Amino acid sequence: MSYLTDSVDIAMHAPRHEVTYLDNNATTRVAPEVFEAMVPFLTEYYGNPSSAYSFGKRVEGHLKEAREKVAALVGATPKEIIFTSCGTESDNAAIWSALQTTGKKHIVTTQVEHSAIINQTEWLEKNGYGVTRLGVAADGTLSLADVEKAIRDDTAIVSIMWANNETGVVFPVEEIASLCKKKGVLFHTDAVQTPGKIDLRHVAKSDIDFLSMSGHKLHAPKGVGVLYAKKRTKIVPYVIGGGQERGKRGGTENVASIVGLGRAADLALEYLAEEQVRVKTLRDRFENALLERLPNLYINGNREQRLPNTANIAFDFVEAEAVLMRLDAVGICASSGSACTTGSLDPSHVLSAMGLTPARARSCVRFSFSRYNTDADIDRALEVIPPMIEQLRAMSPLNPNHTDNHDYDVVAAREKEEKLMAETMAAINE
Ligand code: PLP
Repeated sequence: MSYLTDSVDIAMHAPRHEVTYLDNNATTRVAPEVFEAMVPFLTEYYGNPSSAYSFGKRVEGHLKEAREKVAALVGATPKEIIFTSCGTESDNAAIWSALQTTGKKHIVTTQVEHSAIINQTEWLEKNGYGVTRLGVAADGTLSLADVEKAIRDDTAIVSIMWANNETGVVFPVEEIASLCKKKGVLFHTDAVQTPGKIDLRHVAKSDIDFLSMSGHKLHAPKGVGVLYAKKRTKIVPYVIGGGQERGKRGGTENVASIVGLGRAADLALEYLAEEQVRVKTLRDRFENALLERLPNLYINGNREQRLPNTANIAFDFVEAEAVLMRLDAVGICASSGSACTTGSLDPSHVLSAMGLTPARARSCVRFSFSRYNTDADIDRALEVIPPMIEQLRAMSPLNPNHTDNHDYDVVAAREKEEKLMAETMAAINE
C-alpha cells in the first residue's frame, strides 16, 4: 500500500522506489496499518478527549484503547503509561521528576547516552547537580560493578539506556534496576531503540521505575512518546498545564499519533520474532559479506549483546562523511552517529568512549534495518559499498598503502583532513 503523494515524492527529490532506507535507528517508516488507524482522528473524530460532550468522549475511548496496547508492550497496566511528545521529553521528565521527588542532587549515567540525557545532565551539572558518567569497555559493554561503585547517598536516579542507538549494544538494565532497588535509588532506562527488537513484556515485573519510548522508532509517527512509570512511583510533571495524563503531563493529547502508537505497539509485538530472526539475518549477511570483501573493516560493539538490526562499521582510511555523501547520491540512507548530532565535527562520543581513535571513529557508518528491508536492499547495498570504499581508499591521504604515501605522515594527513572538514562545515553553516 502506498500513501505517499506525488508531491511528497517530488519534494524529496527522489522517487521513493529509488531510496534504500538503511537508517531505521534514526527514524522509521510509518506502518500503513498505523497510518490507517490514525486517519479518522485527523478527519472525522477531531474532538478533544477532555470535552464533556459525547463527540469528545468517543475519542477518549480510543485513547484508552491505545494506552492499553502500549501498556501491553511493557507488560504494564494502563495507569503506568504517560503519553509525551517524544523520547527526549520522556527522558528529561524521568530525571526531572526523580530530582524533585527525592530532593537529592546526584545522577549516575553513562558516557554513551543519547543527547537527550547527555545535554540535560550537562545543564543540570551547570546548575548545581552532580553527575557521574560511566565509561564502557572497548566492545561497548558496561560493568555492573562500576554502576554499584558510582551510587552515592545523595544519588537521586540512575539513568542508563537499554540499547545504544549507534552501536546497538544492549546493557543489562534489569540487573542494574535490581541493584538500584537494593540501594534505594530510582532507575530509569532510555529504551527508545528497543520496542519490536527486544521483548519488553516483563518490564513491569522488573525493578525498572521509569522507561522511555518514542513513536517514530517503531513505525508510528514523530512527535509522540511514552514514559512508563512504575505503579506508586511519585511523579512531578515536567510539562505543567492541564490535568491530562492524570495530572502527570499537561497538554492536550496528540490523539491521532497516540492511536497510531497503539497500533504500532500491537505490530511491534506481532513482528518481534521476525525482527529477531529475519532482520537479524539480513544484518548478519550484510556484515559478513562486507567483512569477506573488504580488508581493514571492523564491526563496532559486542556482536552477541547487540540489537538484531544494527551494524556499526569502521571503514579504515576513509571519512564516513564521504561514504554517506556517495551513498546519498545513489539513494542509500545510512548515518554516522546519531541523527541528533549530525553535522558535529567531533567524532562520535559513543565510539570515543569505546576507545576508538578519532581517525577510526570518523570512519564509522551505522546501518540499521527494519521489517521493511528486504534481501534486495542488502544486495543493492553490497553491490554499491565495496567498490565505493575501494575507490575512496585509493584516493585517501589516510591510506598508508597509497602509492603517494610512501613517506606517509599520519599526523599531517589528519590535520589536513580536519582543516578541510572544518572549512567545509563552516561553509555549510554560513
Ligand atoms: N534516546 C535514544 C536512544 C534515541 O535513539 C533517540 C532518538 O534518536 C531519542 C532518545 C530521542 O527520541 P525523540 O526523537 O523521540 O525525541
